[in-house]
Order: sequence, then C-alpha cells, then structure tokens
Amino acid sequence: MRQERLTELAAALAVDEISGPELSIVIPALNEAACIVETLCAVDQQIAGLVRSHEIILVDDGSTDGTLLRVATLAHRLPLTTIRLSRNFGKEQAMMAGLAQARGNAVIVMDADLQEPVDAMATMVAHWRAGWDMAYAVRAHRQDEGRLKRGLTRAFYRLVNAGSDAPIPEDARDFRLMDRRVVDALLALPERNRFMKGLYGWVGFRSIAVPVELAPRAEGVSKFGLANLFRLALTGMTAFTSWPLRVWTGVGLVMSIIALVYGSYLGLRTVLFGHDVPGWSTLAVGMFLLGGVQLFSIGVLGEYLARIFTEVKGRPGYIIAELRRSQDEKRG
Ligand code: UDP
Ligand code: MG
Repeated sequence: MRQERLTELAAALAVDEISGPELSIVIPALNEAACIVETLCAVDQQIAGLVRSHEIILVDDGSTDGTLLRVATLAHRLPLTTIRLSRNFGKEQAMMAGLAQARGNAVIVMDADLQEPVDAMATMVAHWRAGWDMAYAVRAHRQDEGRLKRGLTRAFYRLVNAGSDAPIPEDARDFRLMDRRVVDALLALPERNRFMKGLYGWVGFRSIAVPVELAPRAEGVSKFGLANLFRLALTGMTAFTSWPLRVWTGVGLVMSIIALVYGSYLGLRTVLFGHDVPGWSTLAVGMFLLGGVQLFSIGVLGEYLARIFTEVKGRPGYIIAELRRSQDEKRG
C-alpha cells in the first residue's frame, strides 16, 4: 500500500519535471510590501489541498518599497517564482509576464492585496475539473465604490460593448482560473496595447462566472486612481472598438445635410424678402460647433494612431530584470 503511494508520488513528480505543476498562480504586485507575505502564505495554504502540485509566480512590477525583499525568505518554504520587471510596466503587462512563465495546466491570476477571497479558488478549480476552460470572479455588488466611479464604469462598458461580438462582462475581475489552452491563446496574441478584460472574452472558450464579495484593501492604497483608470479605459476602447473612428462619417453627413437645408432656406429667403444683415450669431455658433467637432474627431483619430504607432514600433510589452525559481535555489 505504502509502496504504491510512493510510486504514485514519484510518478507525479516525474510528470512535474516534464510538464510543470498542475496549477500556477500568477500575482502581479506593485508596492505591496505590507501584505505580500500574508498573501503568498494564504494562497499557498488554500491551494495546497486543491491540486497535486502548484507554483506561485510573483511578478514585481517595479516596486520601490522592497516587496521582493519581503518574500526572499519564503522561497525556501513555498514553490515560489519571482519575476522582477525592470520598471513599472502596468498591471496588464505584469500579468502577461507571469502568464508567459507559468507552466501549470491551469493558471489562476490574482491581485496581491487579498481583496479577493482566496477560498473562491476552490470553486474555480472545481469548475475547471468539471470541464470549464475559464472561471472568472465577478463582484457581487459595487456598493463600496463611489457613485462617480460606478457611473463611469457603466458608461465605459456600454461604449466598449456597443456592437461588439464578444461583449465584456461588466463586473468581471482579473481574478480567474484559465486552462492552459486559454493561456496559450492569450500568449499568442501579438498586440502590445493590452486590455486583458477584453482579451479574455475575445479568445473565447467556455467560461463560467464565480460571484465573489470583495473585502476592502487591508494594507496600502489602490494603484488605480481616476487618471489610471481613464488611461486603461482608453486602451480598452481603442483595442476593442472601431466605431469611434467611423462615427464621424455619420456626424459629417448629418451636418452637411443640415447645412444644405439651412443654406437653401437662407438663399430662398434672401431672394424673396431681400438681404438683411443679422446672422452673425448663427455663424459664430456654427463655427464653434464645427471647430469643436473637428478637433474632437481629430483627437479620436490621434488616440487610435498612437496605438498603431506603439504596435508598429514592436517594442516588448515588458522587460524582465531578474527571474528566480525556488527549485533552482534548492538545486543550488
Ligand atoms: N498592480 C501592478 N502594477 C501596477 C498597478 C497595480 O502590478 O502598475 C497590481 C497591484 O499590486 C495589485 C493589483 O495590480 O496586486 C490590483 O491593484 P489595486 O489593488 O491597486 O487595484 P484595485 O483593487 O484598487 O482595482
Ligand atoms: Mg485591490
């Protein structure tokens, strides 16, 4: 009996040597020194009973508070891989860096701040075992957020999903489990302007939502202020829509028709009733309105053009400064 168990274990280990662990957990972190140790321990504890073998991949996205130093001692106790990016590249790129190094048959992506309940992982793994390719967390409510942020978020999803064939679920989080096939599909996408929430949906596969309650941030502060969110929203818009580029054809057409009709009316009036001077206010309003519309539409063009420019330059999305696997250390 014991012998059998040992052979089984040995076989499992040998499989891991070749194909990697069963599950990888990718955690992007920027200045999370205050809670990173607690997070890694909680994750490790939660996951240990769920799968045969696992690895935790911590991506340090240019932290300046010694986040990595905090976890240095953990590498001996946990199956931990740390990736230090050469500077802050943003959460989307940090997640990609982690996904690229993950070797598991499935990968869970999760924030470093423990706002998301780790026990939801059990549900995710259960869904995966039942044949789902992706199990993503959706927040049960947004009561913790201000009205403004909620309103803007809603407006953003309306705009970005307008006419889309793979709408992005509104309250979905990055916190999710993905099968190897989904991860490979994501990694194969060549684009650099990455809006992960859109890409998850774009690659398809069978997905299931897992409702979660978010805890307030225990330590540190949120890295996503309004400015940051706005930038992310622009990336999402430009990456997943093209209607803002095309809508101006319609606007221009409608304006031209209005101008033609109004012009004919003015012409007719002059012929019938003679010429009168007033009309400067119409001119002024027309000038400002058209000027505004033109500048705005050029701005929209510029946004898309800027993204095309970054894609064409072909720079990598992130640069790895240092990569450590705890197994390597053990092997010396
Ligand atoms: N994060 C990152 N790079 C960044 C910004 C954030 O890796 O440039 C990480 C951060 O450490 C955390 C996750 O992304 O693990 C989510 O960030 P945060 O909790 O600040 O966002 P919120 O939960 O407020 O949306
Ligand atoms: Mg958070």
